[in-house]
Amino acid sequence: MASSTRPLALRAACSLRAPRCLRSTAAARQEQPGEPARPPPPPDPERGSARGGTGPRGTRRVQPPPPAVDFGDPREAFRSKSSAELVRALVVLRLCALEPLVARSRQLMNLSRKLLGQQRFEQLMKMTFYGQFVAGEDQEAIKPLIQRNRAFGVGSVLDYSVEEDLTPEEAERKEMDSCTSASEKETGARSPYLSPGAAQREKQYLAHREFGDRRDRVISARTYFYADETKCDQHMDTFLRCIEASGGSSEDSFSAIKLTALGRPQFLLQFSEVLMKWRKFFHQMAAEQGKAGLAVMETKLEVKKLQETLANLGIATKAESQHWFTGEDLGVSGTVDLLDWNSLIDSRTKLSKLLLIPNMKTGQLEPLLSHFTEEEDLQMKRMLQRMDVLATRALELGVRLMVDAEQTYFQPAISRLTLEMQRKFNMEKAVVFNTFQCYLKEAYDNVTMDVELSRREGWHFGAKLVRGAYMEQEQARAAQVGYEDPLNPTYEKTNEMYQRCLDYVLEEIKYSQKIKVMVASHNEDTVTFTIRRMAELGIHPSEKKVYFGQLLGMCDQITFPLGQAGYPVYKYVPYGPVNEVLPYLSRRALENRGFMKRAKRERDLLWSEFKRRLITGSLFCNPSH
Ligand SMILES: Cc1cc2nc3c(=O)[nH]c(=O)nc-3n(C[C@H](O)[C@H](O)[C@H](O)COP(=O)(O)OP(=O)(O)OC[C@H]3O[C@@H](n4cnc5c(N)ncnc54)[C@H](O)[C@@H]3O)c2cc1C
Repeated sequence: MASSTRPLALRAACSLRAPRCLRSTAAARQEQPGEPARPPPPPDPERGSARGGTGPRGTRRVQPPPPAVDFGDPREAFRSKSSAELVRALVVLRLCALEPLVARSRQLMNLSRKLLGQQRFEQLMKMTFYGQFVAGEDQEAIKPLIQRNRAFGVGSVLDYSVEEDLTPEEAERKEMDSCTSASEKETGARSPYLSPGAAQREKQYLAHREFGDRRDRVISARTYFYADETKCDQHMDTFLRCIEASGGSSEDSFSAIKLTALGRPQFLLQFSEVLMKWRKFFHQMAAEQGKAGLAVMETKLEVKKLQETLANLGIATKAESQHWFTGEDLGVSGTVDLLDWNSLIDSRTKLSKLLLIPNMKTGQLEPLLSHFTEEEDLQMKRMLQRMDVLATRALELGVRLMVDAEQTYFQPAISRLTLEMQRKFNMEKAVVFNTFQCYLKEAYDNVTMDVELSRREGWHFGAKLVRGAYMEQEQARAAQVGYEDPLNPTYEKTNEMYQRCLDYVLEEIKYSQKIKVMVASHNEDTVTFTIRRMAELGIHPSEKKVYFGQLLGMCDQITFPLGQAGYPVYKYVPYGPVNEVLPYLSRRALENRGFMKRAKRERDLLWSEFKRRLITGSLFCNPSH
């Protein structure tokens, strides 16, 4: 069987990225000796500086004060809703609070379909759960809702939410088939936990049958399972239609995509493993040089010592490694940080020796990755091409592409591939947005590294900050399979991490015209914190550098007051035929059950507004703005 070691040679495999300017990387470092204060914002004759600055004719521009937002005003929150919609929301959110009903929501839906027949079942769903959480069946059907939201200052992130309705067994089988390489299947199993032939690989980055159904214990996100390449092409077409619909809906819309829909997940698993091993190797080298425990962007390896270590380990001769760090490439300053180190993996992995790194436990040199067959190699390239097609279309239509974050064993690869798209497509403006999950221990490192890289290379950084949707599944997997839990140990720690990442990005935004962030959260404290920090930093909502995001049908008391006050705010807008979004709907019910206190507050506000309309005789008035 033909094999190759191509997965790392991403550069050659696809034309995803713009030419790399390592020279400017080094130059940028030299221009900023000793990590100085950040550069002043580039002059913008139209806007002046973040704090007002100088207007076009040298006049001092004063920013208007930031608008006040009241999340406790029911009239403002539900101004866009008819009274029938208020009643529907009250009923649906009440039903979501009934534990036995939510726990059996799928079975109940199936039973109702049988008893009522398809047509009446669809009517019932549209009057209740579907009507609350889904915008409509297709691009045409969702238009009125999108236009109405827009009239109230709320934009849309279109999210086609159709999912295959697989049984857990089918899902498991598909997952195991698509996450195990042919070479691994050939070599046979060595452990009850591991896929066949996977002894060299890290447990975290292997498919495990008992976690094969990735939908299990996930509340927010929809899940794709790999069937074949034709199916991936269909997903790409669906995303394309979604991007086109977004382009038609307004000037500054978003469209969401998931990379697991676009290709065989085995590649994502293996590439993630390589990236994490490479990063670990950097930290091992840092420890060798007595630099363990420093913040990631402050850890700099001394090139001379590094060359010696690499030579001692037998990874490269001194001459070879000297070549890596000289010329116009790296090490001009005599040190290498993690960004430089990561760039090595692009250009140096063609050297087969560098595919070997030492296993510190056994002292053996081990390959970074398993071999791919020609077919697997092709599958990987097709995935990258699909991403390219989507981002190209998004750029043409002026739509921003939001790449969702997924499980930790896929996420390093997803994030890295998204970064490659940003390098290529974000030269003029932020077209591609990455997602950072703040429940991860490494979230802050991830955000700061990408921001720093975007600064060095001159592209626009766009990000969505979330807490993370896969918590229960991740925690259970780490405990059962036996690796360190990648998540923060408590909710409070996740909150701290969210705040830290957000604060960092907001500080950066203050100084840069090239950074945009979406605060994607239903947490009122998080939104209030963001508004306060924006005011303190002089970031006015009209600059449209900070967006907010919530899901359709949830937390309107946050979304609509934000929109009315002029903050750029978006609803994730799921759509699709009734039958095909049922899995999504049952998870919505689960999520609302999970946040009882929040749901109660929403219900109280809905009820207050309903009573107000009843008392004032305005029950039958149309929504107004
Ligand atoms: C517009 C939008 C887009 C989204 N896109 C994505 C995406 O691409 N990828 C993704 O993974 N999620 C995504 N999510 C979901 C998001 O990650 C959260 O699951 C969800 O929004 C709840 O978090 P919160 O900030 O709204 O509210 P909160 O209720 O304040 O936070 C709940 C979250 O806190 C974390 N948490 C709770 N308990 C603990 C604990 N004991 N230890 C550690 N952490 C804990 C978990 O992440 C949990 O989901 C998105 C959400 C929105 C609104």
